Amino acid sequence: MSEQCIFCNIAQGSIPAQVIYQDEAAIAFRDINPQAPVHVLVIPRLHVPSIAELPDQLCHPLLHAINAVVRQEGIAASYRVVTNVGPAAGQSVFHLHFHVLSGRTFSWPPG
Ligand code: 5GP
Ligand code: ZN
Repeated sequence: MSEQCIFCNIAQGSIPAQVIYQDEAAIAFRDINPQAPVHVLVIPRLHVPSIAELPDQLCHPLLHAINAVVRQEGIAASYRVVTNVGPAAGQSVFHLHFHVLSGRTFSWPPG
C-alpha cells in the first residue's frame, strides 16, 4: 500500500468509488470520467506501478477479474481492454489498472 496512491486508497476503502467487483487479488470500480457507457477499472490490491512490474502470480487472477467484470456487465459480445504504460501512452495513475470499455463503437488504431 502506498499512502499517496489514489487507487491504493480506493482498494482500502478510504476513498469512495463505485466498486462493482472484488476478490482476494483484485477490485473493479467505475471510472470517474467514463469514456464509454461502460468504463470500469480493474486493479490489483497490491500496489504495482504498471503491467511491466506485475508479478507472474497475479497475471491469472487479474485476467480472471477482468473476465468476471465482463460477464457481470453483460458486455461479452463487444468490449475493449486497455492498460497504458508510461505518460506517453496516456498513463496518469501509477497503480496498474486495466480499462474495460464497452457500449459504443471503438476506432482502431487508438489515438
Ligand atoms: P490512465 O490515464 O492512467 O490510463 O487512467 C487513469 C484513469 O483513472 C482515468 O480514466 C481517470 O478518469 C481515472 N481516475 C482518476 N482518478 C480517479 C478516482 O479518484 N476515481 C475513479 N473512479 N477513477 C479515477
Ligand atoms: Zn497504489
